[in-house]
Amino acid sequence: MDISVVVPLYNEAESLPELVAWIERVMKENDFSYEVLLINDGSTDDSWKVVNELHEANDCVKGVCFRRNYGKSPALFTGFERAQGDVVITMDADLQDSPDEIPELYSMIVNDGYDLVSGWKKKRYDPLSKTIPTKLFNATARKVSGIKNLHDFNCGLKAYRKDVVKHIEVYGDMHRYVPYLAKNAGFDKIAEKVVQHRARKYGVTKFGLDRFVNGYLDLITLWFHAKFGVKPMHFFGLLGSLMFFIGFISCAVVGGLKLYNMYTGHPYTLVTNSPYFYLALTSMILGTQLFLTGFLGELITRNSPERNHYEISEELK
Ligand code: UDP
Ligand code: MG
Repeated sequence: MDISVVVPLYNEAESLPELVAWIERVMKENDFSYEVLLINDGSTDDSWKVVNELHEANDCVKGVCFRRNYGKSPALFTGFERAQGDVVITMDADLQDSPDEIPELYSMIVNDGYDLVSGWKKKRYDPLSKTIPTKLFNATARKVSGIKNLHDFNCGLKAYRKDVVKHIEVYGDMHRYVPYLAKNAGFDKIAEKVVQHRARKYGVTKFGLDRFVNGYLDLITLWFHAKFGVKPMHFFGLLGSLMFFIGFISCAVVGGLKLYNMYTGHPYTLVTNSPYFYLALTSMILGTQLFLTGFLGELITRNSPERNHYEISEELK
């Protein structure tokens, strides 16, 4: 099979028939063998009924129905697990992404040898409250992930080589960072393609402004995981030792100064009268705690089934 189109959907009943008809048309025109995986993320409207009808009408349309709403990432993950096509394309259900881009994306993966091609909604039809924070979000993501050529991490329209989606695990709200996940798994031939974007025709957006707060926190998590996931002590140990060292030296200085003044006959006060003493003490306590956090982290990774999981691309025997 050439192409699997994975579509996560949550309350998008009105858009679905139009979307699927459009995908079918593009596939027929280009003679692709394909499947459309509609992942119903616990919709409370008629979406699942519509998916059933579409499946009746065309065998290539397949559906999965979550019992409750889990989120876009779990929906994508479920689609990725089932996808059989050589190229996997993800697309939002709200008709903001255009299926006309599919042939070009397919060719970039198959002919140009990219692992992942991400859409770039260069000209967006979204409210300003969304486009401005998005610019900031993408700049941060570029910096942290080291994928310098992407302008639009969170674009719903992306194409993957099948290998990629079988080797990454999208979870939580990590759909925003699939390119980063792919890069961490060793798939670093990542490209971008300017894609058409349209205003939402039916229904409403499912994400509020909290997407930016959560997105930022997720980015830190991914960065930490990629860098220190199996060696947390390298992070906490360094920080802890540094804090403890600063505290210890400061304590010694405060105590030493008092002893010096005592023996040389200068006026002196109790060390507990000095604010520096308390700062030094706090620093030592924090240092110890960070260090212990590092030890706990090491104990946890030691028991993790992931600790010796490596992405192997080829092997000669
Ligand atoms: N979506 C989903 N589960 C959710 C929220 C969203 O499957 O909990 C789907 C939604 O139906 C749509 C896609 O994710 O197909 C993108 O959502 P939306 O268009 O609301 O996001 P925006 O375009 O505003 O970024
Ligand atoms: Mg949308």
